[in-house]
Amino acid sequence: MLDQSRIDALRHSPVPPAGHLIDGQICAASDGQVMDVISPLDGTVLTTMARGTKQDADAAIAAARRAFDDGRWSELAPAQRRKVMLKWADLIEQNALELAVLGVRNNGTEIGMALKAEPLSAAGSIRYYAEAIDKMTGEIAPTAPDALGLVHREPVGVVAAIVPWNFPQMIGAWKLGPALAAGCTVVLKPAETASLALIRIAELAVEAGMPNGVLNVVTGEGAVVGEALATSMDVDVLVFTGSGPVGRRLLENAARSNLKRVYLELGGKSANIVFADALDLNEAAKVSAAGIFRNSGQVCVAGSRLLVERSIHDEFVELLAHHAKAMKVGDPLDPTTNAGAVNSLRQLEQNLGFVAEAHEQGRTIALGGKRILEDTGGYFMEPTIVTGVEPSDRIAQQEVFGPVLAVIPFDTEEEALRIANGTEFGLASAVWTANLSRAHKMVRRIKAGVVHVNTYGGSDITVPLGGVKQSGNGHDKSLHAFEKYLDLKTAWIKL
Ligand code: NAD
Repeated sequence: MLDQSRIDALRHSPVPPAGHLIDGQICAASDGQVMDVISPLDGTVLTTMARGTKQDADAAIAAARRAFDDGRWSELAPAQRRKVMLKWADLIEQNALELAVLGVRNNGTEIGMALKAEPLSAAGSIRYYAEAIDKMTGEIAPTAPDALGLVHREPVGVVAAIVPWNFPQMIGAWKLGPALAAGCTVVLKPAETASLALIRIAELAVEAGMPNGVLNVVTGEGAVVGEALATSMDVDVLVFTGSGPVGRRLLENAARSNLKRVYLELGGKSANIVFADALDLNEAAKVSAAGIFRNSGQVCVAGSRLLVERSIHDEFVELLAHHAKAMKVGDPLDPTTNAGAVNSLRQLEQNLGFVAEAHEQGRTIALGGKRILEDTGGYFMEPTIVTGVEPSDRIAQQEVFGPVLAVIPFDTEEEALRIANGTEFGLASAVWTANLSRAHKMVRRIKAGVVHVNTYGGSDITVPLGGVKQSGNGHDKSLHAFEKYLDLKTAWIKL
């Protein structure tokens, strides 16, 4: 249960200036520069954090390299690594409310969701990978009798992890969990607008007994710190969650430097397809509203395109608007809030720009469309439903990353499929139907990393998350995530 009095006490507690964590020590930027951390709740300066330099990134990479090469982590007995990571997960859980509130003050996610999806989810992921450490075995190949082919799994080396501002603790743990469990060392670069809780989580790793240099955090601008990581000759693997243009840049920088492996989890324009034979239209509308408007739409898998069968279009949009209106938008530290703040003024302006363009094109703003609660100084926006959208409209092709839903009617299953697959993305999707064979056919034919059936957005750590097409490559979550951090090595022995 969320304790409002504790939340209120934490809401006003001063946040000390944040530094990097390099080689087990909190430190300032090499040139002493800091950057303001603006809270999206009221637009004020929450604190400052180190504005990292290339030298800082290089120092963190060097610390991670030393820690990897001398085996202080990778050569620990697996049970010992597991013990440290389990203790780390416990510490995160013990500090969950503090971490959740700090995260909310930094990025605006509503507290009810943030507590579960951020520290508690991060602790759960770290525990999941910790428990897998001593269950990963090698192979003996079925060779001819005069040879023995052994397949070893080895940690890849130094990992750079660059993460976004939405769900930084959860997404950070999706990378830190398997990377550290595999025996790699890590330099983590959080987003400019969501670094604070991740620094604290890294400090807790040191407190849990993780040796110095195994997990390092460098804060600052992507164009400086991120670039330094991506162009480094000493980073072996780069794992990234964020936008497509930055993902492209990382691939270029890997190609220009040491051909480091690059795994990308990028954006989406996920189709939520509602057929007229859906079991319960009201339930579908309620879940669909949450599937786009929670966290003010700042969810990579958000169902941002609603494809609805024409015969139920008007009825469904009405139900959806009803549930969207019932969602409470505002103070993310109020546990009854369903949709918190937009992360930054820039993101808010981008959201409003998409809506204005759709309006100019003659599309209908069926609900919302405006900034609200401006007197708080915070960045809040109404849940927004745009109808009459053409599949080729910018609002139906590009990721808004805000509380903006584009509604497109369809007449046949084939047409729904064509529209669903008709973007550059392939991250998530959903199908609402009572027809089992239609559901299975759609699951097979929709090009996306996940297809929900008769729900939207459910998941847990046991299943992989990854995109196809320009939504990325590789997978976070599940045991498959280890594949990014473990190399295969063959020993061929003549008998
Ligand atoms: P972003 O791409 O702007 O930033 C992500 C990270 O990259 C930040 O840490 C940023 O500092 C860093 N960065 C920026 N420029 C860089 C550069 N030149 N070199 C290296 N690093 C650089 O994304 P964002 O705005 O923080 O996050 C929103 C995006 O993330 C959306 O597109 C969303 O869909 C995507 N996302 C995807 C998933 C997924 O699992 N597929 C999950 C969450 C978010």
